[in-house]
Amino acid sequence: MDACPNRGPSWPAPPEAANRPDDAEDSHRWSRNGKLFRGLYDIELVESEAIGTVGVGEATIPPIRKYNELLQLDEAEFMRRTQATFKLGIEFVDWVRPGHRYMHGFGAIGQDWEWLRCHQYWLSAHQRGRAGDFADYSINTAAALANKFMHPRADMAESPISHIAYAFQFDASLYAKYLRSLAEQHGVRRTEGRIVRVTTAQSGDIGSVTLEGDRTIAADFFIDCSGFRGVLIEQTLKTGYEDWSRWLPCDRAMAVPCARTDPLVPYTRATARDPGWQWRIPLQHRTGNGLVYSSRHIDDEAAETLLLGNLDGEQLANPNRLRFTSGKRRKMWNRNCVALGLAAGFLEPLESTSIHLVQTAAIRLVRLFPDAATDQATIDEFNRQADFEWERIRDFIVLHYWANRRQGAFWEYCRTMELPETLQRKIDLWQSNGRIFREDDELFSEESWIQVLIGQGILPRSHDPLVAIKSDPQIDKFLGNVAGTIGRCVGVMSPHDEYIRKYCPADAVA
Ligand SMILES: Cc1cc2nc3c(=O)[nH]c(=O)nc-3n(C[C@H](O)[C@H](O)[C@H](O)COP(=O)(O)OP(=O)(O)OC[C@H]3O[C@@H](n4cnc5c(N)ncnc54)[C@H](O)[C@@H]3O)c2cc1C
Repeated sequence: MDACPNRGPSWPAPPEAANRPDDAEDSHRWSRNGKLFRGLYDIELVESEAIGTVGVGEATIPPIRKYNELLQLDEAEFMRRTQATFKLGIEFVDWVRPGHRYMHGFGAIGQDWEWLRCHQYWLSAHQRGRAGDFADYSINTAAALANKFMHPRADMAESPISHIAYAFQFDASLYAKYLRSLAEQHGVRRTEGRIVRVTTAQSGDIGSVTLEGDRTIAADFFIDCSGFRGVLIEQTLKTGYEDWSRWLPCDRAMAVPCARTDPLVPYTRATARDPGWQWRIPLQHRTGNGLVYSSRHIDDEAAETLLLGNLDGEQLANPNRLRFTSGKRRKMWNRNCVALGLAAGFLEPLESTSIHLVQTAAIRLVRLFPDAATDQATIDEFNRQADFEWERIRDFIVLHYWANRRQGAFWEYCRTMELPETLQRKIDLWQSNGRIFREDDELFSEESWIQVLIGQGILPRSHDPLVAIKSDPQIDKFLGNVAGTIGRCVGVMSPHDEYIRKYCPADAVA
């Protein structure tokens, strides 16, 4: 590994991390402090085995590493316990048109050169018919396509190896069990039972919940993690829901595991289908699959046939059917209740953002933790930050649907729908000179937007005029150098499944 090619002094220090929470210094502070509340609060978790959990959710994005660090999880141990594999990005198959594919790899694209991002030089070469495949300029994408992996090396700041950004593909139910046992070790009391009644005080705040069998639990503050039901935030507080299905028309999902196939690839695949799209997520013990679809464009039986007809291995269980409306609660914090997870809303899983949204909401709650007299300014700030985060992720997902040239009613609808103003503004700016700016602390980096825009075939009318500072031969040499260095780095990386076997082999499942 030490022999990894190095481009030399002109390869700069890594640009801003792939996803903002990667550089959240605060999380380091917390993780060193260990258990956060130190017994300050009495926390009780109520959940019902009879109701169960959604039980899907297998692909994640790089900020989960910071979250796990915050919880002081040992990465190899966590991966063994959750049957995890590494994820370098998402491959989008047939999204632009049947037969087309591209990768949204996490992390950097090539390297900046003076004032400009690498893609500006690529756009210039592309206009002259001299550009290579855009995939060759991302270490993540090139490694994923070669089915290779290695951890980034901080001591190799001069090499693309230091830019590798990764997440995990894992069994979310095992992750939930793992986190629950940690919470219990840290003093959280877990109560099995179904909440059948919720009492509100005269003020309108929630006062207590009553379980089947009549045990009542009173509290000052409630976190609603009851999934799509929203037992507290909606059924009790009637908070209301912003429906985003005019932009994200899929409203059903069907999930089914199949036998693991070889090789174990370090990426999730999202394949467009006539009424939506299908995911494929490789784990150590099995492959997760699912169809996300629009009920206006296919019925459930036909959807099941479509899904089961497109599995790579033997089907291991009956399909799990789910209904949802993409959107979010009007207020994720209402009175003395914060909604987390599916109780807060749902952005369909195309970019694997739901578990991330649970984790950022938990961190946001800690940052804005209320005292006994919760003030409205704190609540409003929580909701403002959450709304911004959700809307920008929504825009990024909508982009994938809108930028298509596929046939069929579903895809024609997506191509012609009116876009959210925030997304339209981004696309307009991109289309003039290929510029994208990350706004405030929105989740997806410029690199992510650039890869999906170029991947989906949305090329700007022209590149940045400052490209002209360099001559065409200089640009071609620069791009050749970047792609060549990345190619040599990928050459020294390990095959992904060999890496998993050595680093974090999980127990076989009977
Ligand atoms: C189709 C689909 C695909 C997904 N894919 C991904 C993915 O690839 N990546 C990703 O990050 N996320 C994904 N997600 C989201 C992910 O599954 C969820 O964010 C995650 O599981 C968290 O769910 P939750 O805990 O909010 O809700 P749930 O899993 O529904 O849990 C709700 C909990 O509340 C309890 N409960 C409910 N009502 C009561 C009651 N009355 N009394 C007591 N307890 C009660 C239940 O027992 C359960 O424990 C996906 C979701 C769906 C629907």
